[in-house]
Amino acid sequence: MTYVERVLDDLKKRNPGEKEFHQAATEILLTLEPVINAHPEYEKSALLERFTEPERTILFRVPWVDDNGNVHVNKGYRVQFNSAIGPYKGGLRFHPSVNLSIIKFLGLEQILKNSLTGLPIGGGKGGSDFDPKGKSDREIMAFCQSFMTELFRHIGADTDVPAGDIGVGAREVGYLFGQYKRLRDEHVGVLTGRGLSYGGSLIRKEATGYGLVYITAEAMKCRGDGFEGKTTIVSGSGNVAIYACEKAQQLGAKVVAMYDSNGYIYDPNGIQIEVVKQLKEVERARIKEYANRVPGSTYTEGCKGIWTIPCDVALPCATQNEIDAESAAALVKNGVKYVAEGANMPSTLEAIEIFQKSGAVFLPAKAANAGGVATSALEMAQSSGRLYWSAEEVDAKLKTIMINIYHNMENAAKKYGFEGNYVMGANIAGFEKVAEAMMAHGIV
Ligand code: NDP
Repeated sequence: MTYVERVLDDLKKRNPGEKEFHQAATEILLTLEPVINAHPEYEKSALLERFTEPERTILFRVPWVDDNGNVHVNKGYRVQFNSAIGPYKGGLRFHPSVNLSIIKFLGLEQILKNSLTGLPIGGGKGGSDFDPKGKSDREIMAFCQSFMTELFRHIGADTDVPAGDIGVGAREVGYLFGQYKRLRDEHVGVLTGRGLSYGGSLIRKEATGYGLVYITAEAMKCRGDGFEGKTTIVSGSGNVAIYACEKAQQLGAKVVAMYDSNGYIYDPNGIQIEVVKQLKEVERARIKEYANRVPGSTYTEGCKGIWTIPCDVALPCATQNEIDAESAAALVKNGVKYVAEGANMPSTLEAIEIFQKSGAVFLPAKAANAGGVATSALEMAQSSGRLYWSAEEVDAKLKTIMINIYHNMENAAKKYGFEGNYVMGANIAGFEKVAEAMMAHGIV
């Protein structure tokens, strides 16, 4: 058994039932074998055992009262995974499916993603099994205040800086920040994705989606290609999906389909993104409503069918494991040329293999959706310096970061003889820096 196989075997035994965490650890560690083999000192210092064990895991009770006076109790999580290269950084997810396994898979991925941005940020992730859907603003506020009443003692602008993720947008970040400020009596950059009126950065809202399109455009450019005229599918209709769609359209793509967790819309004339924004950002309505408002479009109940629509570019931007082997095979059969992951781990391991074998360009989440956290790091820099950059400045920095990420992973894959394998390239490029810092810090 190799060192990597032994660590994975142990990890599965010591963390039973954490299937998403096992999936992410397997995907990451197996691709790191060439680096591990080149550094025998890593095994001696149990580097991988330390890398896959969070530095700190915080689990807490979140009690809150609904509008009818009923008391509810949710689970709260913050996994502070790795601070070798900077303060813990990573989003909070509020969704009924949240459990420790999901938070750990996201946290582990986040370490490498954050390293890949080239900025000094460590990896963390958190959240709750609370479901914001259908709750009143007052209920959301009550929940966020209760959540922060415990979390505030564990985070800080130089310690751990959470942000949004699924179910945590501008409204939730506002309530969380308000409670932190009240408890600590300090107005600092302890959360990113803040509103513009209280220290947020321009372009943060758009950053993950825009960044996804910038890195895909760079992959296209290196092949003498571009978004112009490309039929594109963007899954999801949340923060990442909306701005991926917007930027892809600005670059000339024809986005024909999107979904929410109930079903998908198909608009052969090209999605009208302003209608989606109105429905999702303003009315908090279901995507189904799009078909009632836009003539020529259709709505289909259920999500999976979206991947059977022929397209050149697939941008999965909703959630983990939304593309399984069957959906990947359908995309490949219909001639997909580029798959870039906006969501975290949207493709199963089997789906990734199918994409890579097909010759399609596959850009993994850790690189492709790093624009959000990179811009969060830019927000942290602006907060520390008490200065604010223009939208053009932030957008230009974001674009440069995404282009650099593309070439870093391309070069890392090449260096170890796996040219074009961006899963390996992204993992290796992210890991090298974290490993070097961990070695420098001794056994901690
Ligand atoms: P949002 O909550 O804004 O949107 C999530 C979207 O995905 C919604 O349309 C939601 O539909 C849909 N969705 C969620 N679960 C499912 C499901 N099981 N099946 C089908 N659709 C589903 O989240 P974000 O846009 O912020 O995040 C999307 C993904 O991107 C996540 O994987 C997140 O980790 C990742 N990401 C986000 C970043 C950010 O900056 N926001 C940064 C990097 C990664 P519905 O409304 O019906 O639930």
